[in-house]
Amino acid sequence: MGNYWKSIDNALKLSDLPRKRGKNSIRRVDSLPKCDMCDEPARYDGLTLYGMWGYMCQRHYSKVGVGLGLGKGQELIVVKGGDEID
Ligand SMILES: [Zn+2]
Repeated sequence: MGNYWKSIDNALKLSDLPRKRGKNSIRRVDSLPKCDMCDEPARYDGLTLYGMWGYMCQRHYSKVGVGLGLGKGQELIVVKGGDEID
């Protein structure tokens, strides 16, 4: 899997898609999951350029994420002790 994603990294070096923050773009979590593409903590859960969903760290989101919002992806926000913050 490592080599697969490395080749994608190389292929996308020049890509810099404009992204907009839409509604439903944030999800509260107890702790950050691990990025599906490396060992960094994932900051986003969303759709990738390849049509697959996955957890992405900041670095991978910037490379393969399609954006935030309904049907695209969500930024993961760590909330300690429940979700009473609003
Ligand atoms: Zn990553």
